[in-house]
Amino acid sequence: MQIQPAQPIDAVLPPATIGILGGGQLGRMMALAGRHMGYRFRVLDPTPDAPAAQVADGQVIAAYDDVDAARRLAAQCDLVTYEFENVSAAVAGALAETCDVPQGSELLAICQHRVREKSTLAQRGLPVTPFAPISSVGDLDEALERFGGRMVVKTCRGGYDGKGQWMVQSRADVERYAQEWARAIDHHRAAGFDDQPLIAEAYVPFEGELSVIVARNRRGEVRAFPPAENIHKRHILHMSIVPARYPEDVIARAVDVARQVAEALGVIGLIAVEMFVTQGGEILINELAPRPHNSGHYTLDACATSQFEQHVRAICNLPLGDVTLYSPVVMVNVLGQHVNPLLAQMSVLPSWVKVHLYGKAEAKRDRKMGHVNIVVDEVARALQWVEACGIWADTESARGSG
Ligand code: AMP
Repeated sequence: MQIQPAQPIDAVLPPATIGILGGGQLGRMMALAGRHMGYRFRVLDPTPDAPAAQVADGQVIAAYDDVDAARRLAAQCDLVTYEFENVSAAVAGALAETCDVPQGSELLAICQHRVREKSTLAQRGLPVTPFAPISSVGDLDEALERFGGRMVVKTCRGGYDGKGQWMVQSRADVERYAQEWARAIDHHRAAGFDDQPLIAEAYVPFEGELSVIVARNRRGEVRAFPPAENIHKRHILHMSIVPARYPEDVIARAVDVARQVAEALGVIGLIAVEMFVTQGGEILINELAPRPHNSGHYTLDACATSQFEQHVRAICNLPLGDVTLYSPVVMVNVLGQHVNPLLAQMSVLPSWVKVHLYGKAEAKRDRKMGHVNIVVDEVARALQWVEACGIWADTESARGSG
């Protein structure tokens, strides 16, 4: 076969410098992947020696909402990306003035606000959890009735790992939480936002949770990684299992929905689409993240291309990488309380357990300090090892427990 050289397409090429807003583990793994390709990295983060800064060429030490600092970062970079979505609109706007921000600020604005996110998806005919925008505590009685007496109330902005979330199962719960909600609403207004402070969602008695990470570049190529089956413990991701243990048609629908999200929103870079699978096998989108995602860490050791390399390729307008899964894999998060038990076994771990630690200084309880990828011939074997090794003894696992 004779391979003809193709016509070059406009792309950001190494040794270009990529700026990352946020210096956490996602930025760290992004920079490590991009460095392999010859890119340089600079990071903005308030913590000196942040995980991403340790592997970058430089750091601007400043708060995420410091517009001048963001401009200083942009001045040293050929393009800027972000590793977390709560970048202020002012910062995103300031960057776009002086620098290429391939992901743009519109997608950020959508993903920063749960009502905007869900209504944008619903308007495009995509399946989302039934929801109601909440402007005042008075709206919640009506919402409870509408959702059949069981709902989940969330702050529209800034919640993560179950923070800013209330499960409501009765009128008594509405009364019990009224003060907390009033405080959340005050906080939202005091921060200068005039949009809805809260959202109520129907409680979904889901069978389980899936996520699909999709990449799209400026030339419109779209590629989805294999769906991950996610098990949460106390609202924090505990493990991701790939291939997900669902029927083929459910998996195919999940991938299809995620691809549609990427197309409909004109994503450049990655978008992680978190979904519920109902007992009837229906897919409902719960949440989006316009960046690499914890549930995609398995790609580092089990796929032809990692999600981090894929993100760099997508924002630089390179061809997207092959997303083939080479092996079954289980990713398990290493939280603060798991670090010592893991280190105690590190010198005798099986060869198929791949350790990733993020270089964070302090191992606080529930803080994401690293993860392991267990790359084996069968998912069941990996799950057995997780149980048997005792490292995660504090987090018994159960499917679909939320
Ligand atoms: P979120 O912050 O929206 O990702 O929610 C965190 C976790 O809470 C999810 O992964 C689910 O396990 C659970 N959860 C969130 N929303 C709902 C819902 N509407 N119904 C049932 N469980 C939910």
